[in-house]
Amino acid sequence: MRQNSSKLALHGGKPVRDASKTWPEWPMHDETEREALLQVLESGKWFFGERVKAFEKEYAAFQGAKHCISCNSGTAAAEIILQALGIGKGDEVLVPPYTFIATASAVLRVGATPVFVDVDDNWCMDHRRIRAAITPRTKAIMPVHFGGLICDMDKFNAVAERHGLILIEDACHCWGGRWKGKGAGTLGRCGFFSFQASKNITAGEGGAIVTNDDALAETLRSLVNCGRGPTGSPWYHHLNVGTNARMTEFQAAILSCQTARLEKQLLTRARNATILNYGLRSIPGLTPQRNSNRNSRRAYHLYCIRFKAAEFGCSREDFVRAANAEGWPISAGYPMPLYKQPVFLGLDAYDYGSCHCPVAEDLCYHSGLWFPHQLLLGTEQDMRDIVEICRKLKENVKKI
Ligand SMILES: *Cc1c(COP(=O)(O)O)cnc(C)c1O
Repeated sequence: MRQNSSKLALHGGKPVRDASKTWPEWPMHDETEREALLQVLESGKWFFGERVKAFEKEYAAFQGAKHCISCNSGTAAAEIILQALGIGKGDEVLVPPYTFIATASAVLRVGATPVFVDVDDNWCMDHRRIRAAITPRTKAIMPVHFGGLICDMDKFNAVAERHGLILIEDACHCWGGRWKGKGAGTLGRCGFFSFQASKNITAGEGGAIVTNDDALAETLRSLVNCGRGPTGSPWYHHLNVGTNARMTEFQAAILSCQTARLEKQLLTRARNATILNYGLRSIPGLTPQRNSNRNSRRAYHLYCIRFKAAEFGCSREDFVRAANAEGWPISAGYPMPLYKQPVFLGLDAYDYGSCHCPVAEDLCYHSGLWFPHQLLLGTEQDMRDIVEICRKLKENVKKI
């Protein structure tokens, strides 16, 4: 047995990763952000100008979309999309229960009803369960490319077409992701991204919508910008019930730098994830999220692992504690599916108390594990350390 396998850090042994080994910090920046920010600062043009336009162009190109409409958060993006598509009171939108709150709360904010469709054993909304959730009120499906893994968009498009539903991608984990060569966000009617601080490209806050639909793009631009008409319209002239969700020049300046770095980071994360996929394969009780070769460029916002307590030999909570002690910041992820949140249980319009999505509940209560993308920017040795920690815990599982 390897020397450092003998005693668990949990019980005072030497951790696989001691304090001398650090993980990449997030967010990341260098001189390019510093210079870009100073340029904006000193230019005196802080508001909705050339930087925002340039970023929108770059990001549209990056995702392979005709249009990119920037805004101030992923949440705002989702709400504005739903409004632009005329979704509101009396309408239902299918969403997964295993996601950030905004996927579902955006639906409530426009007065419509989120209906939860369980995920499959690979963390994404299960297309096979969609049919059963459709009612005459269903207007749209909003799957999440969870962790960066693109949902089976062939299946989602087929079901959307068959039932006349609008397909909206929550691509807030999927910057740079591609499905059969096409960018995330362009695979349905439109898709949206977040640039909040934890996300793979970030300006602290920020969001964007991409679409190939000209008319929808024009409406979205108007809604983000107080309902104004297109560029060139008279100054005091408001066509739509818009809001102010504009991105600042500071945000756009940072995001252009972050986007320029993304291509290389995508490769690093994918290389490191591959090392983990192979390394963890032989360890009973740990199943990494499976890739599909149709997901032709895999983005990683999270690296997700299903944990089987019976096969590994300890509880998930004990695994997390022991892994953390060895210097690996992995977590059990969301502690409950969205429909258990007080906000949903308090609504009269729909009986969320009787929702039951067994796979999402299993992920929350028993089997979900994930760690964030910045760890995947580490070295190959960092990845080998993760595999080593898993082996060490497995070999010593009786002592956990
Ligand atoms: C982050 C996130 C959002 C919301 O984005 P914000 O910019 O934080 O408002 C929506 N959906 C998912 C899946 C997210 O991870």
